[in-house]
Order: sequence, then structure tokens, then C-alpha cells
Amino acid sequence: MMEKTLVILKPSCVQRALMGEVISRFEKKGLRLAGIKMMQLNDAILNEHYAHLKDRPFFGRVKQSMQESPVIVQCWEGIDAAKVVRNLIGVTNGRLAAAGTIRGDFSMSAQENIVHASDSAESAKIELARFFSDNEIFDYNLSTIGSLYANDEI
Ligand code: ADP
Repeated sequence: MMEKTLVILKPSCVQRALMGEVISRFEKKGLRLAGIKMMQLNDAILNEHYAHLKDRPFFGRVKQSMQESPVIVQCWEGIDAAKVVRNLIGVTNGRLAAAGTIRGDFSMSAQENIVHASDSAESAKIELARFFSDNEIFDYNLSTIGSLYANDEI
């Protein structure tokens, strides 16, 4: 199904000048960029975003790390986009992530792992609403759609 998903280029990505490289991977895969902006995150939004980690010992460290610089939030669209993007980024710990994935290629850390991506289409809806307003998401057509998918897929 055609889905939208949230990606965040974390401060580790911004600081290490990997923003273009990471965005390029999503572009080359064939996903459509539906929204993008720079944001400075704060404790309030991170308490929501990382609520599932609130009892973990690294919760405070992760929140601090996510505020070290602005981040780039993006909305990418494609068939099964949430799963496709999770496969492209690799598992949480960069040292364990498969070579060829973003974390596998660019991260040596469980925390400083370059990108966030929604873990399902359902959580993507909630996360996109947290970081974007409706008028920041653009539903234009990609002229290459016929080269990206078979007719019966779209
Ligand atoms: P993911 O980002 O792969 O969906 P989680 O939702 O479990 O993973 O964790 C959110 C973020 O918290 C991770 O991307 C990472 O930055 C940090 N994190 C997760 N586990 C650890 C850990 N064991 N030590 C330090 N930081 C962690």
C-alpha cells in the first residue's frame, strides 16, 4: 500500500556532514520526498517521541544527544515505505547493522546511529503529525512513477 513514513536525520548525521549522502539513498531507492525541514528539538517533543524508552537508563542521554544540533525531519512516500525505509537504515546498533545499510555503513554506535525512521505505517501517522503540519506535506506526482512500479502495484 502507498504509505508515508517519517525520517529524522539526527545530530550525528548533521555534524558528520552525511545529510546529502543519506537523503541520496532514499532518493535513489525511488521514494518520493513529501516533506522536509530543519528543526531544533526540545525535551517536550522528545518525551513524546521516545516515550517507549522512558524507563531505559539511556533515556536522558538520547534526549540530550537529539538536541545537540538541529535535525532534518523528512516525510518519504512509497509502497510499503515504512518497511522499505527501516530496511535501508538497518538495526538500531550501528556496529551490528548490516553493511550496505545507512547505520551499517556510517555508525559505530547504538546511540549515535545517524537516522530515526518510523517502525510501522501506523506509528508513522502519529510521528508525522508530531513533526509536520498538514501544509508542510506535499502530494505532487512523480513523473517517474511508471518506471518505479508496475501498473498493478500502484
Ligand atoms: P530505533 O531507533 O532503531 O527504532 P529504539 O526505538 O529502540 O530504536 O531506540 C530509539 C533510539 O534510542 C535509538 O535510535 C538510539 O539512538 C537510542 N538507543 C536505543 N537503544 C540504545 C542503547 N542500548 N544504548 C544507547 N542508545 C540507545
